[in-house]
Amino acid sequence: MMNKWLLLFFIVLLGVVSVNSEELETRSKKVVILLGPPGSGKGTQAIRLSKSLNLPHISTGDLFRENIRQNTQLGKEAKSYMDAGQLVPDTLVVEMLFDRVSKPDAIKGYLLDGFPRTLGQAEVLEKKLGKEVQLIVLNLQVEDRVIFARAEGRLTCRQCSATYHRETAPPKVDAQCDRCSGELYQRPDDALPVVQERLRVYHSQTAPLIEYYEKRGSLIHIPGENPPDTVYRDLMQAIQRQS
Ligand code: AMP
Repeated sequence: MMNKWLLLFFIVLLGVVSVNSEELETRSKKVVILLGPPGSGKGTQAIRLSKSLNLPHISTGDLFRENIRQNTQLGKEAKSYMDAGQLVPDTLVVEMLFDRVSKPDAIKGYLLDGFPRTLGQAEVLEKKLGKEVQLIVLNLQVEDRVIFARAEGRLTCRQCSATYHRETAPPKVDAQCDRCSGELYQRPDDALPVVQERLRVYHSQTAPLIEYYEKRGSLIHIPGENPPDTVYRDLMQAIQRQS
């Protein structure tokens, strides 16, 4: 009889401990979202922030480009939208993103670059994260005319996605990545007509997210036209203030 009660006690204790550790895990989870127009420097900053914060850098654009490289069904579907400067439909993006954030390296949090890009995506993400996650949304502010100038000279590494600029941040060796020696190329979506379309899409579909996160009190504006080191410092300070 005594053994039965003892067994019951341990089962209840086990339950309490596991619920608490699950809660703790979610509470200590940090999700950082980088918002900003295409070409505002989200990718460059995300690479540095990811190292400093020890959070995986998750870029939906990079995930799509990887799918295109590997010629997957998802890659084939996404390519036509991307080449035209359009957004890939929410259902495809969300499924791909949720699959990525369920990987073990994202258990303590992650840094999102290029997601969410529509109100629909933001709402789905909010539901998934719940209330216990620490959410920090940073908005890089860059004028359209600066975006055009940046896109015109931008070079991207085929291997590691690092970006350079022909005039303002050239690689040490022509057409070769300083970090991994990969080949540098101009992304098709950096061509002028595509940049124009991407900015139009940004203003109509992604910019409303600024108000969405402002209302939730989780948005911090960062001047994005400063030199990359200054932008990085401002981003880190903003994150540290929230932590
Ligand atoms: P990025 O590298 O973030 O500039 O993304 C390149 C392209 O991938 C975008 O222009 C879109 O076509 C597509 N893409 C990336 N992220 C998303 C997203 N969250 N929603 C819809 N399309 C996306």
